[in-house]
Amino acid sequence: MKQIAALGLREYGVYNKSLADNWNSFVSAEDSEQSLVKLVVALNNNDTKKVLVQLLKKEPGKVLQGMQITSYLIGAKESELYIPAQELELKAALEKQWEGMGIAIIAEDFVDCRLQEENVIHHLETMFFLAEAFSKEYQPSVYLAIEKGGQLSELQKVPYGTKLSDILQVSRDEIRAIEIGTKLYDVAALDYTVKDTMTFGNGVITILDKSACIIDEAEKRLALSRSISCGKCTFCREGLLQIHSMVKDITKGKGKNEFIPLIEEIGDATSFSTLCSIGRTGADFVLSSISTYYDEYDDHLKKKKCQSGVCSSFVPIYIDPELCTGCEDCLDVCPENCIEGKAGYIHMIDELDCTKCGKCFEVCENEAIKKASGKIPKLPDRLTKCGKFKKH
Ligand code: SF4
Ligand code: SF4
Ligand code: SF4
Repeated sequence: MKQIAALGLREYGVYNKSLADNWNSFVSAEDSEQSLVKLVVALNNNDTKKVLVQLLKKEPGKVLQGMQITSYLIGAKESELYIPAQELELKAALEKQWEGMGIAIIAEDFVDCRLQEENVIHHLETMFFLAEAFSKEYQPSVYLAIEKGGQLSELQKVPYGTKLSDILQVSRDEIRAIEIGTKLYDVAALDYTVKDTMTFGNGVITILDKSACIIDEAEKRLALSRSISCGKCTFCREGLLQIHSMVKDITKGKGKNEFIPLIEEIGDATSFSTLCSIGRTGADFVLSSISTYYDEYDDHLKKKKCQSGVCSSFVPIYIDPELCTGCEDCLDVCPENCIEGKAGYIHMIDELDCTKCGKCFEVCENEAIKKASGKIPKLPDRLTKCGKFKKH
């Protein structure tokens, strides 16, 4: 315990506490209650990328040693190791290799923290570094993979003092944002060291390039958190739903100014009151995106503008006067009645009422309805017979 405290070892993942402090408080509480303690080792519940399971595949002995050290220090009577549900071959290999060690290998993605409240839960990487801490090779570090353009790099060991710019090796001009674990940072984070951020959680740093829309990214993260939530904590179930629905509305141009303080209030409560990392970090991305990229929210809300052009609701659409044959098909399907025209005349869209539902695109056989990629060309400002419109 003295060595662990002296090295300043911390729990890896979302719950980044001092290991020695954590155990000291646990051991003293356990003495008084005489409870039967179980050690549970897993990835964070919110970790959908699962890259850190590579540590277990490459050096299972280190995870085993870390679990044995922990069990000894906290007096655990049983231990369980959770591995991703699809890793059935790894489960079989570990069961064979660790036979008689008293460790149950469970292939499940989700640890029910409600059922584990009496037990000690640790991240798999904490066990790995615990074994290293008792060897001469120990160097304070983390394992990271870099995700860029949808591709994940190999997991690499990165010492604490390394600057993010050294491992990411990208030009500042290419980056819109950097996602570290579940939080969002701007390019200033390139000057941080690995230790400064320490919010890795899933061992992945994702580079969002200039083509990304921060609000659209937040919407996707919220959808993912909601899809894996077990729904037993009220704020994870209801809070994430409400935040998600407001963020979705913002991407569709239906956002209201009062959404931002509401998202912040519900997000803080969700992070504070939920039981596992899914609820706790489910709102983190959107909260950090508001604090770092407030201007982008403001653009979507007030200027109805998405600077990266991702949110299709903000991309203007128009009817090309040279292609429209005045067939009236688009006018018939528009649910907002925002297309003006009559048979044989060039049709026109009223941008103010158009919700970009896309129905008119589907029916126009002449492909006359277009999304503007830059400036909208000159269009008729009154009903004009097909073939009579002059551009100049
Ligand atoms: S935080 Fe969410 S996923 Fe975790 S236990 Fe609560 S409801 Fe379930
Ligand atoms: S469906 Fe196409 S061609 Fe027909 S009126 Fe609409 S824009 Fe013109
Ligand atoms: S996108 Fe939908 S709302 Fe807009 S003009 Fe077409 S049909 Fe109407």
